[in-house]
Amino acid sequence: MTAAIIDGKAVAREVIARATTLSGAFVKSAGRPPGLAVVLVGEDPASQVYVRNKSREAEACGFRSEQHSLPADTSQADLLALVARLNGDPGIDGILVQLPLPGDIDSGAVLTAIDPAKDVDGFHPVNVGLIASGETARALVPCTPAGVMILIEGATGRSLAGRHAVVLGRSNIVGKPVAQLLLQRDATVTIAHSRTHDLPELCRQADVLVAAVGRPRMVRGDWVKEGAVVIDVGVNRIPAPERGEGKTRLVGDVATDEAMELASAITPVPGGVGPMTIAMLMANTVTAAHLRSGLRRPDFTL
Ligand code: NDP
Repeated sequence: MTAAIIDGKAVAREVIARATTLSGAFVKSAGRPPGLAVVLVGEDPASQVYVRNKSREAEACGFRSEQHSLPADTSQADLLALVARLNGDPGIDGILVQLPLPGDIDSGAVLTAIDPAKDVDGFHPVNVGLIASGETARALVPCTPAGVMILIEGATGRSLAGRHAVVLGRSNIVGKPVAQLLLQRDATVTIAHSRTHDLPELCRQADVLVAAVGRPRMVRGDWVKEGAVVIDVGVNRIPAPERGEGKTRLVGDVATDEAMELASAITPVPGGVGPMTIAMLMANTVTAAHLRSGLRRPDFTL
């Protein structure tokens, strides 16, 4: 068997097209566009690129898009004051504070200060709790896990009942929420992490395997069950001397070339989960705008 490659870029384009259409309809019913505010503290080059891309995509979707760039020595009090101002701005539906935050700023305190109804990153304890208690219909779901679920649904059909899903990684931003969303869809879920024994054997039992560990090509071909759907969340930069001195390339947590021999469908890196993250941010902003305006929650199932 050679796996179908799941085209995350194409699926992300569909999500963004839907967000754009819904944004246009929202303007007609609410008299204003959905609003997204992205906050960057400091000058981390990678964060600058992420924030610029998010703001640009929001504009392309027809949103009101605000970018707040604060110096690296911004105090926690000043950042909290900005969050409070954005919480109180009726034209802003989504607030995203780019992580990591520099210096002594307590990111937990900042994320908790965001109005849960505007928490388009889905990291506020209220949204975390709603997802943990199975109330995803009322929650804003973190972007990468939400994107992972759309890709899984596309590859498996909507029902995951009776399927064994193994999630490698237990971080709060990927592993845990992905596992909870899979559970919500009636999969039988195993969460594995750095203390798990015999990962290869566990992975070989997975009908759906989600790798989110941050270890280049850790999941080898012989870890994959025949016919499994493999979702590779990992983004790892490794040296690529074949491209020239000092060059690098991105690889996932899965040895894709090997896993393809057995999987039925697999996400590539890059071009798999990555593009879905920003698309789901747009989806979450439209969703937040609808919910805050008392409109029915839009459906982003493709
Ligand atoms: P974290 O470092 O927060 O978590 C990694 C998890 O993997 C931990 O639970 C850790 O276990 C586990 N782990 C680490 N090494 C091993 C090992 N050898 N065997 C088994 N488990 C292991 O990472 P994130 O969840 O934030 O991100 C994971 C990957 O996904 C990264 O490559 C990141 O770049 C990528 N990512 C991609 C996104 C995208 O948009 N495509 C978005 C977010 C992340 P333990 O808890 O025991 O330490």
